[in-house]
Amino acid sequence: MRIITTIVYHHTGISGDNQAEGIIRNHTAKWPMQFPHGMAYHMLIEKSGKTIEGRPEFSVGYHAGNWLTNLVSIGIALEGNFIEHKPTEAQLDSLAEETIDICTRNKIRWENVRLHRDVRDTPTTCPCVDLKRILEKTGRIESAKQKKLEQLRNVKKYQSSFTVNILRNWLIERKISFLETQF
Ligand SMILES: [Zn+2]
Repeated sequence: MRIITTIVYHHTGISGDNQAEGIIRNHTAKWPMQFPHGMAYHMLIEKSGKTIEGRPEFSVGYHAGNWLTNLVSIGIALEGNFIEHKPTEAQLDSLAEETIDICTRNKIRWENVRLHRDVRDTPTTCPCVDLKRILEKTGRIESAKQKKLEQLRNVKKYQSSFTVNILRNWLIERKISFLETQF
């Protein structure tokens, strides 16, 4: 198991739809040893908002342009070229929900969710727009947080009413307080 402390946001830099297969082909050709069957990113969010797993979370990706960051991060790419067009509403909704989910499971603080351009060793404009600010300004990160808190509280209530599972309830309680204090 690796310790994950960071999320890195990307755009794919390509305008078209349904890019997953092409990205897998490109990344496999570019880094055949590292990624025989996957993407350099852990997750691709299509324009429809659908998320595609690029590689498992436990596996180190090759997306940040900074090796130390690669070792401890999850790379999420949004399909599109945000110099030419904006991310879709559905993509932003999914990005907020996936971010809250990954952060809750791995105890990643909001300040450790980064844009590619802020972590890469050599300059890049990726992802061209400040996705973090957009998620904040549009209230998406807050509503994804509230949704997750409600889910966690429901699981806790359900568990408490059927079983006395102190350890599981304690773990859920920790997730709730992490989310409440860090986001
Ligand atoms: Zn990038």
